[in-house]
Amino acid sequence: TDFKSLGLSDVLLSAVAESGYESPTPIQEKAIPLVLEGRDLMGLAQTGTGKTAAFGLPLVQRLLDLDVRPEPCGARALILAPTRELVNQIAKTLVSYVRKTPIRVTSVVGGVSINAQMKRMSRGTDILVATPGRLLDLVDRNAVRLHTANFLVLDEADQMLDLGFIHSLRRIAGLVAKQRQTLLFSATMPKQINELASTYLRDPLRVEV
Ligand code: AMP
Repeated sequence: TDFKSLGLSDVLLSAVAESGYESPTPIQEKAIPLVLEGRDLMGLAQTGTGKTAAFGLPLVQRLLDLDVRPEPCGARALILAPTRELVNQIAKTLVSYVRKTPIRVTSVVGGVSINAQMKRMSRGTDILVATPGRLLDLVDRNAVRLHTANFLVLDEADQMLDLGFIHSLRRIAGLVAKQRQTLLFSATMPKQINELASTYLRDPLRVEV
């Protein structure tokens, strides 16, 4: 299979080519067409399998297709990850995919000044990549509004639970749009992850690699 047959548009195929990806990895082959169809997914995949592109490429395409501008302080898509390092890595990868599009990617993490993040969020963003704690700080300061987020990605969900983010995740899930597409990725599927998925995903498909 090649990326073209997965349903990606020309602008994303050119991003794929510029990234040097020749053919899709197994998780990309399975997930990309389903995400483009709008399905909720539970992906069992480790880091290094290409899962960032598996959700990132079709997410960017769906945002482009909808052609809506973000509201001030708003985000159209929210990606949550457990650590600063992972948030920065996801944001960097997404920035490389959106270079030839009007899509804006913003990341917020703890451990750095919140003021610059508040300022950057004031005009809104298409894709917000965040750690849960700093995101809720920004929400509590009215610097981020999540009700327009129609896409929610939980990356390394098992790690987020291990780090004690369950209450934050529940609160955030209550703030994003009810009408949304939700993708959950985890390296392991313990009981709590299945519970999380059955609460927050709608009719999810399971994708394993
Ligand atoms: P990830 O699992 O998302 O952290 O990706 C792991 C690494 O694989 C990253 O350095 C990506 O740039 C790279 N990668 C992702 N998809 C592909 C692909 N289809 N072909 C070659 N490399 C890829």
